[in-house]
Amino acid sequence: MTDPLFRPPSEPLVVAIDGPAGSGKSSVAKEVARRLGYGYLDTGAVYRALAWHTLDHDADTSDAAAVIDALGDFDLSISLDPDAFWVRVGEHDVTGEIRGQRVTDAVSGVARIPIVRHAATTLFRQLVAGCGRRGVVVEGRDITTVVAPDAPVRILLTASEEVRAARRHGQENSRDRAAVAASLQRRDASDAAVAEFLTAAEGVDVVDSTELDFPGTVDAVLAVAAKGLSHGR
Ligand code: C5P
Repeated sequence: MTDPLFRPPSEPLVVAIDGPAGSGKSSVAKEVARRLGYGYLDTGAVYRALAWHTLDHDADTSDAAAVIDALGDFDLSISLDPDAFWVRVGEHDVTGEIRGQRVTDAVSGVARIPIVRHAATTLFRQLVAGCGRRGVVVEGRDITTVVAPDAPVRILLTASEEVRAARRHGQENSRDRAAVAASLQRRDASDAAVAEFLTAAEGVDVVDSTELDFPGTVDAVLAVAAKGLSHGR
């Protein structure tokens, strides 16, 4: 049997972090990557960029055929540098736009399509392999289960629904709290239909950030990562 922790020296170690919207995943994953000197891959940004590209084609992301059509000329580039993060579609820098409400409301439609998920998974593995750093922190919804199920560190970052809605509301400052909570619930429900990220798969460590502030959450994730990475060496 092959040792699951064995990998050629050139293959980057993966710290896989899954979690729902508002769990603090992106900012925590980015800081963890900085502290470890690893690359950072925001897989949600790739789904968001495809949603942006589909909308740019004047197509509806709930129309699977239109999304698959848009996938045909989806020219994506994404930074894996936690200190200089950007996403481009062709020549267009979409880093800011993909965080907007229009894309947020449309992204689940794109993520629901099996061909899209398959292409995205292949791309994520290629990006990790070509990262050029010792390791990569990869965050999303299905990283611990589908994209990198053999990663030496697999974490589910959770927080209560109330805390997640409050954090999103604090970040957005635009809509009322109830609207933010409703939008979060809608996205969780839609996303949960394609990837199990609300409960941890076997062997996945849970970090619950409900009672933790940002530095506390980063420390908790780093503690779990240290354990898994020391076994993986
Ligand atoms: O993490 P973020 O909120 O940016 O993700 C945007 C969307 O991308 C999610 O709501 C989900 O639909 C999709 N996604 C996914 N699988 C991933 C990452 C994101 O389906 N690994």
